[in-house]
Amino acid sequence: MSFTPAVSETGDPLLLTPGPLTTSKQVKSAMVRDWGSRDAAFIRINRDVLETLPKIIHGEADFVAVPMQGSGTFAVEAMLTSFVPRQGKCLLLINGAYGHRAKKILDIAGRATLVHETAEDAPPDLAEVDRLLAADPSITHVFAVHCETTSGIRNPVEATAALVARHGRRLLIDAMSAFGALELDARVTPFDAVAASSNKCIQGVPGLGFVVCRKSALAETKGNATTLVLDLHDQADALARTGQYRFTPPIHVIVAFHQALQEFLAEGGVVGRGWRYADNARILIEGMGALGFTPLLQPHLQAPIIVTFHMPKDPAFVFQRFYDELKARGYVIYPGKLTVANSFRIGCIGALAAREMRGAVKAVEDVLAVMGVSLTAPRAA
Ligand SMILES: *Cc1c(COP(=O)(O)O)cnc(C)c1O
Repeated sequence: MSFTPAVSETGDPLLLTPGPLTTSKQVKSAMVRDWGSRDAAFIRINRDVLETLPKIIHGEADFVAVPMQGSGTFAVEAMLTSFVPRQGKCLLLINGAYGHRAKKILDIAGRATLVHETAEDAPPDLAEVDRLLAADPSITHVFAVHCETTSGIRNPVEATAALVARHGRRLLIDAMSAFGALELDARVTPFDAVAASSNKCIQGVPGLGFVVCRKSALAETKGNATTLVLDLHDQADALARTGQYRFTPPIHVIVAFHQALQEFLAEGGVVGRGWRYADNARILIEGMGALGFTPLLQPHLQAPIIVTFHMPKDPAFVFQRFYDELKARGYVIYPGKLTVANSFRIGCIGALAAREMRGAVKAVEDVLAVMGVSLTAPRAA
C-alpha cells in the first residue's frame, strides 16, 4: 500500500488532539532565544499579550487578563479559589471530566458546592438550574464549561449567563477549549471571569493559563485566595504595579504565545479561526460518516473543537492498533474519556486545515483496510 505519511513543517506527526496541538513553525521558532524576565523587550511582549486577550471577548473596556503560570487547570483553580469567597457557594454545571475537576478543586479549597449534572451527551437543564438558584439564596457563583472537551459538546453559556444574571449571581466560565474559536461576547453575555490557556485554540505551546476577569469583580476578591501562587488578585496587582510576575514566568511560552496571537489576529480572530475549525469538523464528520463511524453528539450540540466517535463493534477493530497505525501515517488521535459510551476522539483544532483533515480521513480508510474492518452495512442488492 502506498501511503505517504503526513508530517508537520518540523517532520512530526500531526496532533489531532485537544491541546497540546500542532503549532506553526513560526510559533516554535519564537522560542529559540534567551530572554531575562526583567528584560524590557520581554515585558513589552508580555504586556501586548495581556492587552490582546480581553479584546478577544470584546472586554477591553471592563476586563483585565491575569496570566497564571502552568497548564489550564492552574488557571481554573486560580479562578475558582480567587473568585468564590470562603463563605461562598458554587453551583457547578457538570457534563464531563472538566466539570468534575472543578468540583474537586472547590472541595479541596473547602468551598461549599452544589452540583447539577447531566449526561456527557446532554447540555444542562436550565429550567432545573433556574429552580436550584431560586431555592438556594446562599449560592453566590455558578461554574460552567463552554466546550466540555470530554465529549466535544458546546454548552449554552449565553443562556446560562442570562439566567445566572437574572438571579443576581456570578458566573465563572472554563472556556479552555473554546476561547478564540467560539464566540463569547462580554458586552452581551454577563460573567465575572473566563479561564483559558496558551495551548488550545490560540495555538501556542503549553505552559501559560490565563483568566480574563471583570475588573470590578476582581477588585472584590482580595483575601479570598487560599494559596499564595494561585492568588489572581495578588498576581494582577503585582503586574499592574511592576509589569512583572511575582514568580518566574514561562518566558519562552509567552513569547511563542505572542507569536500565536499575531497569527490568530491575521487569520481574522474568532471569526476566521472559528470558520476554519468548523470546516475541519465538517470534513471530519462527513468523511468518518462515509466510512461508517457515528459521532456521539447530535449535530446541534457538537462544537467544532473535538469530535467523539463511537468505537466500532467489529471485533477486528482494536483501538490500540488503530491508534498506532494512524500514528505511523502521521496522525495522532485521542482516546475516549467518556463514561456513557466506548469511544475515541479526533480533534479539529491546531495548525491544521482542510487538506490535513482530508488526509486524516484517508488515513483512517487505509487503516481500516489494513485491519480488515468493514463498518459500512452491505448495500441491498
Ligand atoms: C484542556 C482543558 C482544561 C485544562 O487542562 P490542562 O491539562 O490543565 O491544560 C480545562 N478545561 C477544559 C474544558 C479543557 O479542555
